[in-house]
Amino acid sequence: MSNPMAKIDPVRFGPDSAFKFECHPGVKCFTKCCRGINIILTPYDIIRLKNRLELSSEEFLAIYTKPELLEKTDLPVVTLKLLDDDQESCPFVRDDKGCIVYEDRPSTCRYYPLGVASLSHREGADDEGFYFFVNEPHCLGFEENKEWTVKEWRQDQGVDVHDEINAEWTDLVVRKRSFPAHIKLTDKSKQMFFMVSYNIDKLKQFVFESSFLQRVTVDPETVEKMRNDEIELLKFGLRWLKEALFDESRVYGRGGGTAEGAERTE
Ligand code: SF4
Ligand code: SF4
Repeated sequence: MSNPMAKIDPVRFGPDSAFKFECHPGVKCFTKCCRGINIILTPYDIIRLKNRLELSSEEFLAIYTKPELLEKTDLPVVTLKLLDDDQESCPFVRDDKGCIVYEDRPSTCRYYPLGVASLSHREGADDEGFYFFVNEPHCLGFEENKEWTVKEWRQDQGVDVHDEINAEWTDLVVRKRSFPAHIKLTDKSKQMFFMVSYNIDKLKQFVFESSFLQRVTVDPETVEKMRNDEIELLKFGLRWLKEALFDESRVYGRGGGTAEGAERTE
């Protein structure tokens, strides 16, 4: 989560770095961190949340998200749309109960109070990944005595599963960020990125109800898996997207050719 008022602790954390923190309904600041925030949603976040709320991906996007361009990448992403109340609350927070989608909360909420460099817009995020503290002045969890390493926190919060499923997407975002500025994606490529990343129902239609499987060779076992499993479909979609848009041999290939969907603007 990021809050315009949050102070970013400049210390870089690795998996074995230790910190003290605990969050529970007894803290005086309970649910304060779920207001006035900026949460970039990942592909797996959308799948978990739309299934929990029994919505199509299109419905979820329309009701609960806001489009944004991700800084330094020009990629279309979505953030959680906040309520139009005094505190700009997350639509899923309740004063008494806390988060009503807790088991399916987004990756960013799971990481909190840690931030992940690859998804934030921080300098240095192109090299090896690292974590940092999102130190919000109202958060009293740092006054508690429970000790964690980053690795333990990630496991406790279930972020490992999210990160594994989102791995290709995160890699794609990081690689796009390192593209030379004069290479831009076409509008069509951005639409593809958006569909694969966020609109799993539309991706399913695209794969199974267009000529896609006649144009792209996919082994029958993968086709069957994708037909019945949204995660398999998402993972396939992201691999395909990455190859189509960012294959370096095609972007920087002989003759200065660009990948399908990328264009030079110089
Ligand atoms: S999804 Fe849940 S944990 Fe995340 S900001 Fe909203 S209420 Fe808080
Ligand atoms: S301790 Fe921090 S994370 Fe927990 S409710 Fe308070 S502000 Fe949110």
